[in-house]
Amino acid sequence: MNCRHCGKILQHQFLDLGFAPPSNAYLNPADLHAPELYFPLKLYVCDDCWLVQTEDYARSDELFTEDYAYFSSTSSGWVQHAADYCSMISDRLDLNEASFVIEVASNDGYLLRNFVEAGVPCLGIEPTDSTADAAEQLNIPVLREFFGQSVAGRLVSENKQADLILGNNVYAHVPDINDFTKGLKTALKPGGTVTLEFPHLLNLIQLNQFDTVYHEHYSYLSLYSVQRIFKRAGLVVYDVEQLPTHGGSLRVYGCHAEAGFEVCAGVHALLAAELAAGMRDLDVYLGFQPKADRVKDDLLSFLIEQKRSGKTVAAYGAAAKGNTLLNYAGVKPDLMQFVCDAAAAKQSKFMPGSHIPILAPEAMGNRRPDFVVILPWNISEEVMRSNAFVRDWGGQFVTAVPELKVQ
Ligand SMILES: [Zn+2]
Repeated sequence: MNCRHCGKILQHQFLDLGFAPPSNAYLNPADLHAPELYFPLKLYVCDDCWLVQTEDYARSDELFTEDYAYFSSTSSGWVQHAADYCSMISDRLDLNEASFVIEVASNDGYLLRNFVEAGVPCLGIEPTDSTADAAEQLNIPVLREFFGQSVAGRLVSENKQADLILGNNVYAHVPDINDFTKGLKTALKPGGTVTLEFPHLLNLIQLNQFDTVYHEHYSYLSLYSVQRIFKRAGLVVYDVEQLPTHGGSLRVYGCHAEAGFEVCAGVHALLAAELAAGMRDLDVYLGFQPKADRVKDDLLSFLIEQKRSGKTVAAYGAAAKGNTLLNYAGVKPDLMQFVCDAAAAKQSKFMPGSHIPILAPEAMGNRRPDFVVILPWNISEEVMRSNAFVRDWGGQFVTAVPELKVQ
């Protein structure tokens, strides 16, 4: 297999999580009587551009079209994050009624609604019908397609180049990252800015976040590789911010190479920090598998110990990362009896692979487990606060990443 960015032959495996079903393939009761399809979950690192990427394999695409669509507006924290961003970027780029903003993967309009309210013309690009419908009800124009060079060319022919193109948590999910980046270049006005947010590979490595790996997540990005990918498309990263979202993300700011924007000191500083952390050192990548295995082994030992001493263990949050962790560890309902989740669409279903039943949050109080494993560790403080009553019967909370912690 060749690197999806630079084309070099990939020779180094970064992580092998065995085989797993698609992370969002939640099962209905009837599905438990049918075979379940598993796909390899393996990552490689390119020793030239250092892009970490999923292995290519024959996939059944209908399995990856989400019938469980994620609506961004359901997370109040994320909605606030979007509102803060809109006010910051409007000031910084001086956006007004004469500007034009494009959001790639605009979801249900959770972000663009802020621009509509401020009178800044905008366009969402979103292939998922259910979320695009919701955005249109907020008077946000939506182009129902996947973004890339061909869509960007069409926007240019319709005089729809943008002053700002933004993409939050889409860049890592694009199969053809070069075509997507060329599209950004094409659809951007000469003095325009691109901002992209994505989880930072440095955090994944340093904090053992191997459970953020799943099939739909094609690329795992450092600032160094993003800078390389931008450069080849004729773009320059001129600023970067580190954000706490998703266990540690980057927000990069890009412009046309010809625009000659001054590159901020923060870009040089973060590139130096990545270099110092070994992000261009093969040994750092090759040393990750044992760290992931340690997390898996510790969780499994803990669960077996509780089973043998007659304790009950439940989980909170039927998140994609939970599926990666449970499937890699081979956890089944004998070790973890149930998982609670507030999303009605997931309740009464079963976790893919592990077949652990998903119940409404009320089940926690009724079943009173001795331990509650918080699968979405990025919101563990919030989960412990809203489920503080678990301590009334002596229950304790457990997180597995970056290392096993019982509190
Ligand atoms: Zn490469």
